[in-house]
Amino acid sequence: MSFEEPKLPKVIVALDYRNENDALEMAKTLSPDMCNLKVGLELFINCGPSIIQKLHNLKYKIFLDLKLHDINNTVAKSISAIGKLGVWMTNIHAGGGTSMMIDAAEELRKNGYDTMLLGVTVLTSLNNQKYKEIGFLSEISEQVLHMASMCYKSKLNGVVCSAEEAKLIKDNIPSDFICVCPGIRIKDSLKDDQERIMTPKEAAENGADYIVVGRPITQSNDPLSSLKIIKDEFENNFDK
Ligand code: C5P
Repeated sequence: MSFEEPKLPKVIVALDYRNENDALEMAKTLSPDMCNLKVGLELFINCGPSIIQKLHNLKYKIFLDLKLHDINNTVAKSISAIGKLGVWMTNIHAGGGTSMMIDAAEELRKNGYDTMLLGVTVLTSLNNQKYKEIGFLSEISEQVLHMASMCYKSKLNGVVCSAEEAKLIKDNIPSDFICVCPGIRIKDSLKDDQERIMTPKEAAENGADYIVVGRPITQSNDPLSSLKIIKDEFENNFDK
């Protein structure tokens, strides 16, 4: 008899909470069979690393989204500390440069941690106008592809990008390099502070490997039903 490895859920729910109780309550409302969880700056700074162990105890895979951006040595040593927490996925800013990313990836491997390392490209809260205000001259899509190529050459496992850019990345970089896409909204819903948004169906059609969804699930009156709707819409259009 052969046992097929259960498929990892493709939705990552962002647990953007100020306190541990709210985060754990939401984790218990949802299910590790249906989603993975993302711990970001707000929860991590408020609760500290112990929140990771508590979510691991509930059998969740965790994406620790701290978006590190600093000099090579600081990022490498911090990434090593993140690897030690046993998280499934974490990230650093591609804007820190290729050598910073190479050193961080090398540090994880050297210490035997199998945490996936992603590069953050251009935040989904930026549109072309806000992006150019910072001083960048190129279009966002061009810059995202450029940064994704840097991440690939630095041996990262993938990028965080908008699903708008996922197709461009999939067309130009080998497909085992993953695209993790926040900025997901169901049709006609609030976009909040996000700018480059897509529906779960559009994200799947564009080649996103995982979608990150926060408020559309966590602020919903029925988070589990909202997760089911979003998960079905994404995974039913996902052909890998
Ligand atoms: O509530 P919402 O679905 O907008 O949450 C998106 C989550 O993804 C937030 O936790 C945010 O920090 C994160 N994120 C993002 N854009 C990126 C990287 C991460 O929105 N480029």
